[in-house]
Amino acid sequence: MTASQQDLALREQAQGFLSREVHHLIIDGQSVPAASGKTMTTVNPSTGDVLARLASGGQADVDRAVLAARRAFKGPWSAWSPYERQALLTRVGQVLDAKFDELAQIEAVDMGAPVTRLRNSKAALMKMLSFFASQATNISGETLMNGIPGSVTTMTLKAPVGVIGGIIPWNGPLVSQFWIIGAVLASGCTAVLKPASEASLSVLRVAEILLEAGVPAGVINVVTGSGKDAGNALAAHPDVDRIAFTGSTQTGRSIIQASTVNIKKLQLELGGKSADIVCSDADLDKAVPGAAMGVFANSGQICFAGTRVLVQRPIVDEFTERLLAFIKTLRVGNSLDDTATLGPVISQNQLDNVLSYIDVGRAEGAELLCGGQRLGDELENGYFMQPSVFGGVTNDMRIAREEIFGPVLSIMPFDDIDEAIAIANDNEYGLGGAVWSQNLSTALRVVHGVHTGTMWVNCYGYVDPMVGFNGTKMSGYGAKGTAAHMDTYLYTKSVYMQL
Ligand code: NAP
Ligand code: MG
Repeated sequence: MTASQQDLALREQAQGFLSREVHHLIIDGQSVPAASGKTMTTVNPSTGDVLARLASGGQADVDRAVLAARRAFKGPWSAWSPYERQALLTRVGQVLDAKFDELAQIEAVDMGAPVTRLRNSKAALMKMLSFFASQATNISGETLMNGIPGSVTTMTLKAPVGVIGGIIPWNGPLVSQFWIIGAVLASGCTAVLKPASEASLSVLRVAEILLEAGVPAGVINVVTGSGKDAGNALAAHPDVDRIAFTGSTQTGRSIIQASTVNIKKLQLELGGKSADIVCSDADLDKAVPGAAMGVFANSGQICFAGTRVLVQRPIVDEFTERLLAFIKTLRVGNSLDDTATLGPVISQNQLDNVLSYIDVGRAEGAELLCGGQRLGDELENGYFMQPSVFGGVTNDMRIAREEIFGPVLSIMPFDDIDEAIAIANDNEYGLGGAVWSQNLSTALRVVHGVHTGTMWVNCYGYVDPMVGFNGTKMSGYGAKGTAAHMDTYLYTKSVYMQL
């Protein structure tokens, strides 16, 4: 087959998947309807059309899935050696590599990211799988000295923590689900995944592909359904050992409360309102597109979007002018349009919410410099919005304090570095952040000064599993990436041996 024939075949497979009458749950390797028989629909945000019908799972389905995951955890999977789990992850990577365009196609119509952006995310996924494959054979405890009289040998062992509940948001599940799946397969845990109602399809298709690639039945289960029913049932389930959650701070709170039932371990990656600090000595050829895409990529639906762009006063005018010129080069369009750089936002609800912040910003006295409107004409049925910029924003305004999760950037002038750091820190979140300066000591002062989980210098948004990605303050806790990530899928056993 030629490359273009292969491409066509993968698109046809995506069509075949999308045309199923109902997308069922995946429990114990089987495709099954919800116990209640209930279904729900999901929409293509580029067109507003119903895209697919999904099983709407609830408590009974979560119970079944957790039982399957527990059985798998105790079954033959528990005897797989680290080398076998590593080989499995490598195989999963190979199969996903071959099928990635099919998945990109499904994700594009389900959550609206441009298909070109999604195709480019394949490299990120392959890196994650290589990383987790390497971690499978790097699990180790320590031998420790002790002060116990006599001959006592002491050490720590690591063991998989058990059944993981993975609660996934809609803003990029195709890749982000692998922070959970990768760690589950590397550690020997099992999982029940609850994808977001508005973007479940890539999670369902991946679960099928994992089975084809040799992941044993019951190791990765998927229960679609609402957060209120399926999500809450998973968060509160007494036989789930750990929850990995990415989503809003509000839902994070309810997951913390639900976790008390059996003292679940938690990893929470929540909201953000990151500050992107552009100093007067920045290279604007890089800082302008970098800061712009730090907000507008994925139509602003990225937790670590640098939505507060702090610009040093002497360059505010030049920065603003160049930013507005850069925005004119962005093309908002249908997610399947190869030339689109930005797609729609996920839903009518989200669009209404983002547009309401445009009114809030104006009422607070900020100046809308571009955008602020829903797009019409051939895009009128989708949830498209122009990239929008507010000027003259101060840090007390709601548009500077609250997460908008849409393509809205606020320019906030500052005079000196200490003021920039103080503004950056005057927010309840602590997820991302950046500084643009050609002076390394200025950049490092900002890196040290900003209370946040991740900082970029003269770039925005790189994430490598070897380096990791963190959040602090109300952005949550629990590492993503590095050995620390793997460690949260393991527990430590202290062993005392009298010989
Ligand atoms: P959300 O409501 O918190 O949804 C995230 C996930 O939690 C979805 O699967 C959702 O299911 C589920 N859920 C909802 N209520 C639940 C409950 N009571 N118990 C258990 N699960 C529940 O977030 P969203 O409003 O869809 O997404 C936007 C927000 O997520 C933004 O504020 C953004 O900051 C945050 N976010 C953060 C990151 C990050 O990496 N830090 C990434 C993406 C999004 P349903 O879809 O069925 O409601
Ligand atoms: Mg959808």
